[in-house]
Amino acid sequence: MSKDVLVSPQIEDLNVITNIEGTKIKQANNDGSCLGVFKEVEVAISKAMCAQKALTLSYTKDDRERLINSIRKAALENKEILAKMILEETKMGRYEDKVLKHELAAKYTPGTEDLTTTAWSGDQGLTVVEMSPYGVIGAITPSTNPTETVICNSIGMIAAGNSVVFNGHPSAKKCVSFAVDMINRAIISSGGPENLVTTVENPTMESLDVIMKHPYIKLLCGTGGPGLINTLLNSGKKAIGAGAGNPPVIVDDTADIENAAKSIIEGCSFDNNLPCIAEKEVFVFENIANDLINNMIQNNSVLLNKDQVSRLLDLVLLKQDEESNNFNKKTEYTINKKWVGKDAKLFLDQIDVESTTDVKCIICEVDVTHPFVMTELMMPILPIVRVKDIDEAIECAKIAEQNKKHSAYIYSRNIDNLSRFEKEIDTTIFVKNAKSFAGVGFGAEGFTTFTIAGPTGEGITSARNFTRQRRCVLAG
Ligand code: NAD
Repeated sequence: MSKDVLVSPQIEDLNVITNIEGTKIKQANNDGSCLGVFKEVEVAISKAMCAQKALTLSYTKDDRERLINSIRKAALENKEILAKMILEETKMGRYEDKVLKHELAAKYTPGTEDLTTTAWSGDQGLTVVEMSPYGVIGAITPSTNPTETVICNSIGMIAAGNSVVFNGHPSAKKCVSFAVDMINRAIISSGGPENLVTTVENPTMESLDVIMKHPYIKLLCGTGGPGLINTLLNSGKKAIGAGAGNPPVIVDDTADIENAAKSIIEGCSFDNNLPCIAEKEVFVFENIANDLINNMIQNNSVLLNKDQVSRLLDLVLLKQDEESNNFNKKTEYTINKKWVGKDAKLFLDQIDVESTTDVKCIICEVDVTHPFVMTELMMPILPIVRVKDIDEAIECAKIAEQNKKHSAYIYSRNIDNLSRFEKEIDTTIFVKNAKSFAGVGFGAEGFTTFTIAGPTGEGITSARNFTRQRRCVLAG
């Protein structure tokens, strides 16, 4: 099946259980507990250690592939339930997009085929370098893709021969427990060991601390914001850090404007802008700006005037005045978390702007220093900045991206502009003339991931990133 024809059912069509507790009871043990979910983090770790030992000693690579296929199948069978549970628990995002994200994680996360062996043979014998497991990996997951990340990480980490202990975001802990239970059932049903994937029932900073300090956990893998990445990188352990982004889009005057407008709005409004890769701000050449904006309006967007922008700012950002010296006051902005991932119409209703139910995105014209440009909002709000040429566009895009080295996009038919922006912005994901999700293999070539490790350099992570190099020599 081609990746760009993934079809998601509508929420009304589903005959699924409608509350989280009900769903959990259906999947859980007789005693109401979920497989792989433990009250004590120490127990979650030691169970995962036993499971990993069994995996190493008693299962082949083919066996691991069989277990992974079973996880893929379970995730596809449960994608609507998972999407619904996340919406109910986190109250962020869009149901149909969450279904698609689970489908993407289940189908296109690489398995054991990602692992390669290097070999030298000759008169003096045979030397092979194998991709070997770390053992138990400690993985920390975000509220914005809670179970998608659990499914994606589990597939890649088990493919590489590891087990994994998750410390999910506290605001998505029920979904994470459900996913861990689902994955364990899938593994056991295809003959695998119990507890290859575990989690703590109530994840906290304390449980993360235990995971970080545990002597048998040699690799940490964190997907989330800057606080998490700093914590992991200061842990003294090897860490894969998949951090925040603020992806800019450039549209120049050679671009196909209709395609640019449609793709940017689709990318920006996908799951109400929760994905770290989602388009966050646009820099458009002055001479085609009106055309782009008009096309965006035709693609379910509402354009705000200055007064409406300032009311929206008061709604979604929290101001903090910082004394930078005796004379100047600098205002810092942080997001008002209660508005993250909400539907565009809710914002518009709050600031008294009329809209229809099919509105997907709010657009506004601002300058490059505006807090909407400089803050990772994770809301379906798209600031647009007019620029005079490619020099100014690239300069502004770099300011907005803030050297996070995450993702950037451009719409252009000018080869010089395409390649110059790619080199100057130097992001982990760079997409030309298509929406952000092309960067993780949706409607484009290449595999998918929900852990994009910019800060630590692994990039689009897959099984091979969860392995150690091990040399085995037969000499003479
Ligand atoms: P978050 O940083 O609040 O939480 C992520 C995880 O880290 C959670 O499990 C949380 O409990 C934990 N955490 C939070 N602060 C921590 C700290 N100071 N020390 C230790 N652990 C901490 O993020 P979120 O709101 O759940 O997710 C959104 C963020 O994650 C955005 O910034 C987004 O760009 C980023 N993200 C990045 C990727 C990627 O692949 N690069 C993917 C998804 C999300």
